[in-house]
Amino acid sequence: MTLSTDSHILADFILANPNLLIISGAGCSQDSGIPTYRDKEGNWLRNDPIQHKDYLNDAFTRQRYWARSYYGWRQIVEAQPNSAHQSLVTLQKLGFGSKLVTQNVDGLHQLAGHKNVIDLHGSLSEVVCLSCGEITDRNEHQKHLLDMNPSLDSLRSHPEIRPDGDAEVDNSIASTLNLPKCGRCKGVLKPNVVFYGGSVDRGLVQDIYQMTQDADAVLIIGSSLMVFSSFRFVKRARELEKPIVAINDGMTRADDFLTTKFEQPCQELLIATTSLLTQQL
Ligand SMILES: [Zn+2]
Repeated sequence: MTLSTDSHILADFILANPNLLIISGAGCSQDSGIPTYRDKEGNWLRNDPIQHKDYLNDAFTRQRYWARSYYGWRQIVEAQPNSAHQSLVTLQKLGFGSKLVTQNVDGLHQLAGHKNVIDLHGSLSEVVCLSCGEITDRNEHQKHLLDMNPSLDSLRSHPEIRPDGDAEVDNSIASTLNLPKCGRCKGVLKPNVVFYGGSVDRGLVQDIYQMTQDADAVLIIGSSLMVFSSFRFVKRARELEKPIVAINDGMTRADDFLTTKFEQPCQELLIATTSLLTQQL
């Protein structure tokens, strides 16, 4: 199908289902220089990411995370929203898709101006204390990391980063890293994101189930839904017999029950569709 045909189909779907629940994933941030986790067949592109229990139980895992994240964070901070984020802001201004749940932890929807974004997996811009729950700013943490490890700044090259702000860094850098502790209770700090094997806040999950129930339909953008934390809402939408549409350049875990699937990157289709809707309204 052509872009024009696809955009008409998607625009009609949005007009017929104005109260949309939108779920976005890494494919949405790809054009902002943040790579996706999986290839088109849903396979991991790189080594397995950090597991929640390893982060809690193993000091070296934490050192390695922060060594990598020190470099990854610089690129996250520099990343800018792309036309997919901007199109979704336009869609929201037109009155569609007031509910946006994102699996992304890069804050780019918010930076683009999207209101009331729900960060399903938390945000890299915050650091949380595992003992007292105090939340601090990631930029402050970055300064503390550098103060305690001046040698971090000597590595000039930009290691490759992943969507979770992780980067490939030599283990010898990680094993000597000094980690800042909570300023209030000296507890262990963690980025305020949900690692693999970690769980999303139960209240938040219930809120999103409610939104799924209240929505006319679900629109998935740039996600393979391979993680259960987001797939469960699509599964619920299916049980409720809601229309489900996906724009994803590759397979998704929900392929069997999609009403319509646009198997392509999301940017061009979103631009064309929002432009159609803007003209029609
Ligand atoms: Zn604390």
